[in-house]
Amino acid sequence: MTWAHILGHDALVDAFGHVVQRHRLAHAYLFSGPAGVGKRMFARELAKALLCEAPDNANKTLTSCGRCQACILVDAGNHPDFFGVQRPEDKNEMPIELMQELCVGFSLKSARGQGKVAVLDDADDLNAESANCFLKTLEEPPPRSVFILIGSSVDRQLPTIVSRCQVVRFRPLPPPILEQILRQNDIEDSATIQRLVHLSGGSPGRALALVDPDLWEFHSKLLEGLTRPKIDAFGLAKCFVEFAEDAGKELALQRRRVSLVFGLVIAALRDALAQSQGKPAGDDDKILTALTNRADTEKIATLIERCLEAERHLGRYVQIPLVLEALLDAMAQTLEEGAPALASRS
Ligand SMILES: [Zn+2]
Repeated sequence: MTWAHILGHDALVDAFGHVVQRHRLAHAYLFSGPAGVGKRMFARELAKALLCEAPDNANKTLTSCGRCQACILVDAGNHPDFFGVQRPEDKNEMPIELMQELCVGFSLKSARGQGKVAVLDDADDLNAESANCFLKTLEEPPPRSVFILIGSSVDRQLPTIVSRCQVVRFRPLPPPILEQILRQNDIEDSATIQRLVHLSGGSPGRALALVDPDLWEFHSKLLEGLTRPKIDAFGLAKCFVEFAEDAGKELALQRRRVSLVFGLVIAALRDALAQSQGKPAGDDDKILTALTNRADTEKIATLIERCLEAERHLGRYVQIPLVLEALLDAMAQTLEEGAPALASRS
């Protein structure tokens, strides 16, 4: 029953069940797919099922008991044969020392005799050096061991890694499953649920992160600032940086917060684009109407492109203040150039 909390990936659960029954488990997998769709939860549950010392073999499913010593140790993060590794929050790349440590631990004999499982999160952030040091472990793993790498897409991985792994693709979740997950997280209001489902891109992690009212407040403030006759790009960028920093000291948290705002702004601009093409407006009507009054279709499309570009820079670890200053500057320039902006200044 422990897979019950993994929603929307039944086909993958079944596939792994069959593979294990037929003793065909590969020694290295790359779980790829958008952030927040459940790859890490899935990997952890799989690890638990593989390491469980009292599995339910009677009904031939790949299920952990959740009660044996091994299950308890995995849940507590103390199982000697389970390795969970992720990039430290204050680093942009996976440190080689961390990978070396993992390889040493992974090469030792299984302490509890059920094999070993390593889950390497943030595989996107392996550099050539940190990847090279565990290629040998990937190629010649100890017996009964499984290496699971988690990344956003195959394209973001080094070819030397991909060629040694079986790729398992995680898809965005369909709206009914997202709705179910949101309700399980005590979100009851139907309009809120619909809005979150619409904005989440099929990622429950993203949908839940968007529940934060501060995000919405800042998003409105930002859009409102962009509808002013004279846009204070510098001031808006400064506010945006401060808002990012409020997420916490770790850059990963700050980047995540900026990315969530980008997502909201892009969605609003897409609504504005639809509105400028005569489609009925969605939420935030007043601000959107002000935006569409100010910017024609072409300008809105340019603004969307600018945001997507900033998102890419953010993903490549360009410093947050630089990304935001460049973005706000470009958006202000786009909005202020040409006749419509001059007309609205009078
Ligand atoms: Zn167990």
